[in-house]
Amino acid sequence: MEILSNVKDFTLRCGGFIERYNPSVFAFKHQSGVTVKDTPTARQNILNLHMARHAVFAEMLLLPARKSNQLSDLASKVEEIEFELQAEWGFTLDRNFHSYWCEVPHCQCPLLDNTERMGTPYRVVSENCPIHG
Ligand SMILES: [Zn+2]
Repeated sequence: MEILSNVKDFTLRCGGFIERYNPSVFAFKHQSGVTVKDTPTARQNILNLHMARHAVFAEMLLLPARKSNQLSDLASKVEEIEFELQAEWGFTLDRNFHSYWCEVPHCQCPLLDNTERMGTPYRVVSENCPIHG
């Protein structure tokens, strides 16, 4: 794992994935009234949460699609991590702004339709999805 971090850039490279961040988001005073500071601890906490998310994704990849109960439990963990990420960034905890729920392995729900609906309570689920269907 490699963490590249300076004032303008905030990147995590690990295995096959790269996470990029916009540290200026930290500078905003969020809706909750909380101003979150861009500190090494805050960055590390965010990186740790993304690593936890990737670990859950890896676990899901190892399961066959027919193990829908186990996949659903792991998908719930991903949503918990999304709430923790929102908290770490200082955002309001809001399920409507989650994005990773339909990127989990084995999910058959339409990514583009759901990306367009981000910020609304509506989710488009596929009945063929072993996790959300
Ligand atoms: Zn799905």
